[in-house]
Amino acid sequence: MGEVFKLECDTCQYENRISVGIGFLYTSLKSIASFVKDPSIKQQLDSFMKDSSTSFHAYDAMYVCPQCKGIQNELFIEMQSESSHFKHSCSCMRCGTIMIDIPMEHNVPVQLNCPDCSEGGLKATFYMDWD
Ligand SMILES: [Zn+2]
Ligand SMILES: [Zn+2]
Repeated sequence: MGEVFKLECDTCQYENRISVGIGFLYTSLKSIASFVKDPSIKQQLDSFMKDSSTSFHAYDAMYVCPQCKGIQNELFIEMQSESSHFKHSCSCMRCGTIMIDIPMEHNVPVQLNCPDCSEGGLKATFYMDWD
């Protein structure tokens, strides 16, 4: 099961909802392939699915841009088989920099600057569960 957090800036009107964690669709590569839209991930899924030695990690993650502080909510996926390895890297929609995935947990303050005003700090509050 996953969780949705609400991010709010303490200075401006910035607000975002970020879902993190593992949903029931994330338990097999086949079901992940049914909702993934990115063609490069789809292609990787197809080839890893044919390999019985594949193991994988997949979950919703919050990505932060080290350059412009942009925040994106994307699927984290990493697959490993005897012959190959794939890890999806998320690039920033605003500046193209490779983003860093930041773990979010209950009652742990996020140390992030606001992507809009860059002066404010972001506060994360639990919003709801999802599955
Ligand atoms: Zn702000
Ligand atoms: Zn950026």
